Amino acid sequence: MNVLEIKDLVIDYGIVKAIKSVSMKVEKGSIVAILGANGAGKTTLIKSISGAVKAQSGEILYNGKNIANMDTYKIAKTGILQSPEGRMILRGLTVEENLLVGSYGLKSSSQTITENGVSKIVKVSKKQRVLQLLDMVYGYFPVLKERRKQQASTLSGGEQQMLAIGRALMGDPELLLLDEPLLGLAPLIVKAIFEIVERIKNEGKSILIVEQNAYQTLKIADYAYVLELGKVKMEGKASDLITNDELVNAYLGQK
Ligand code: ATP
Repeated sequence: MNVLEIKDLVIDYGIVKAIKSVSMKVEKGSIVAILGANGAGKTTLIKSISGAVKAQSGEILYNGKNIANMDTYKIAKTGILQSPEGRMILRGLTVEENLLVGSYGLKSSSQTITENGVSKIVKVSKKQRVLQLLDMVYGYFPVLKERRKQQASTLSGGEQQMLAIGRALMGDPELLLLDEPLLGLAPLIVKAIFEIVERIKNEGKSILIVEQNAYQTLKIADYAYVLELGKVKMEGKASDLITNDELVNAYLGQK
């Protein structure tokens, strides 16, 4: 079952054709990577999914419904949230305030709980849901809990990236979009962040990652698409692509 399916997407910026008839899929509960060099169209593609860039033609089906060119806030409400390139954290706010900003659009909901072997549906208020999600994010990133009262501007680059991912998780997305999460990070931090991204997937989310660091990303992805000049140049299972000679020569220099 696909959580996302893009069909024949075309995006122009005036005379620049950034995406030229791209089709791709994200299976529910998987990590899919979009790889490619600078200017390949990766950011444009991910922005079109979150609604920040408009498409000229084609479809973006989210759980079967076409969301192409819907307003960004409506797309966010459907369950797609993006952790943007450059992190875009609110530097003057504390770590916890940044996380709470991410929960702005949450609503009260119902949850199934099991007590003494009996399942029942209970109503969960927005406040309870926010606390549950905050607990979950602090569980993934304990350093954010330690620093929750600190101004976000004082965090290291890796911690800011954790905060950006945590803020997106506070909106309880079904599909998480990560745009260049490894940009400028040291190898040890890369490893720590991707271990958490895998855990997030294992706990039921679908994840689409745009990255230039192809090698690290293929290690955690299930499937990948390689974009070149706005077209899908290659696609396949990550475990196959990581040993593909053409890809290794063109993109996997950076290990
Ligand atoms: P990078 O890794 O450098 O971010 P990318 O693969 O994400 O690259 P995009 O940023 O999507 O690539 O850019 C794809 C093409 O569209 C490039 O030729 C770029 O110059 C062009 N482009 C991107 N944004 C705009 C814009 N707002 N106006 C005009 N052209 C744009």
